[in-house]
Amino acid sequence: MARTISEAQIREVVSQVLNNVQSAPEASFDSTQYAGRKFIGIFNDMNDAIAAASEGYKAVRAMSVEEREKIITEIRRLTREEAHIMAKIGVKETGMGRVDHKKAKHILVADKTPGTEDITSFAKTGDNGLTLVEMAPFGVVGSITPSTNPSETVICNSIGMIAAGNGVVFNPHPNAIATSNYAIDLVNRASKAMGGPEILVCSMKKPTLESASIMQSHPAIRLLVCTGGPGVVRAVLSSGKKAIGAGAGNPPVIVDDTADIKKAAKDIIDGCTFDNNLPCIAEKEVFAFRNIADELISNMLKNGAYLIDSAQASRLADIVLVEVTDKKGNKKKTVNRECVGRDAAVILSKIGVQVSGDIRCIICETDFMHPFVQEELMMPILPIVRVDNIDEAIDLAVKAEHGNRHTAHMHSKNVDNLSRFAKAVETTIFVKNAPSYAGIGFGGEGHATFTIAGPTGEGITSARSFTRQRRCVLSENFRII
Ligand code: NAD
Repeated sequence: MARTISEAQIREVVSQVLNNVQSAPEASFDSTQYAGRKFIGIFNDMNDAIAAASEGYKAVRAMSVEEREKIITEIRRLTREEAHIMAKIGVKETGMGRVDHKKAKHILVADKTPGTEDITSFAKTGDNGLTLVEMAPFGVVGSITPSTNPSETVICNSIGMIAAGNGVVFNPHPNAIATSNYAIDLVNRASKAMGGPEILVCSMKKPTLESASIMQSHPAIRLLVCTGGPGVVRAVLSSGKKAIGAGAGNPPVIVDDTADIKKAAKDIIDGCTFDNNLPCIAEKEVFAFRNIADELISNMLKNGAYLIDSAQASRLADIVLVEVTDKKGNKKKTVNRECVGRDAAVILSKIGVQVSGDIRCIICETDFMHPFVQEELMMPILPIVRVDNIDEAIDLAVKAEHGNRHTAHMHSKNVDNLSRFAKAVETTIFVKNAPSYAGIGFGGEGHATFTIAGPTGEGITSARSFTRQRRCVLSENFRII
């Protein structure tokens, strides 16, 4: 006798199959394909990649704004749909960050990165006629991207750069090349699906410093956009080309005695542990008024923090910071890549402390000169320095930011204190009474970016940052009044 299957049973089976598909082991890290799908736009040679990106640029130039926007809409759709895949490959390939948070970062990029609406023109009329200012593309942009937000940065930059009418060639971080190239292929798939060129953006199979250097000196590259640490930002700024530099930060947080301490503790731990502290905007050190520090720490402990003592902090410092010798033979401390973006439990286990997965942040009390305060660790370790008053808090927080002018945070209800710190620290992003990620549009107003250009001044980059102004003057005519 034939058995009938109800609609509910079919749904159940389909859902189980989908779940299995989603949790299937990832294909091994290959910068040219994913699960048998060959990536589009990946080259062995930077010169070939630039030639292909130049063709992509010609195709974009020939498109209407509406056609560009259709491709961007498809990039957004695919990004939402494949966010979990990129999040999983990103964590597996780099060993850094958290899948759920990386997924949220991709959705943020899809939803809040401005598109062509960001490009506006300007007209000036007067006795002498009309002058029109339009925002034009540069041409082919060379983009260097980090390992900390690899596919997020590729997609965010691609949306803005394509919206502005540019072609793009990427030299992604070698440690995140499979993840980055997945995103580059996604952009090309979106282009092809919407009738655009098959290769709109390009990348390298094996990016190196040499391929970055070819990119920096190639005549077809009209704009360099570099998202990364101080070394690479210095390199592109000395290239002789127009460059946008999005560099390192070391965001301090001040908590004064007017703050809602419970909320401040939760916000700081939420921000500091987002993607295991990889975002450059994430809270890196706290300056807490002495009279509320105990309450702040006890509320942090209720929100997934684990307090270590000063002896444990010293042992941990010897593990998470390692001594290296630079090219000039000078010895200096640098972060241990094996610890960057790792879970708090993994880092604690290195000093013999075993904790459950509920622990998401390691906190400790330190003095100002402690390396946890001074170095940009990019891991869920948060030093807390007690201060006597707002003068001391601002003085130390500004020093800890090291003049990066990147990001700073404050929890306070005292408008004078908030304004004083904002003015003194001069950062591109200043977040008041919220987790750090509110500063890039996650639970805060304003658009999202993963390229925050402090050193060169574009700030929270968007499509218009990747344009150049052009003026057209018509003398004595075209006024309608
Ligand atoms: P990184 O500096 O190690 O690498 C960034 C990129 O630069 C990579 O693609 C790398 O291969 C390349 N590179 C490094 N030195 C180079 C050189 N001399 N010439 C050419 N290319 C070079 O960065 P990372 O560790 O992946 O990222 C973390 C750093 O980036 C942190 O300092 C973080 O604050 C910063 N960051 C800043 C932003 C921002 O928007 N301001 C965003 C993300 C990361």
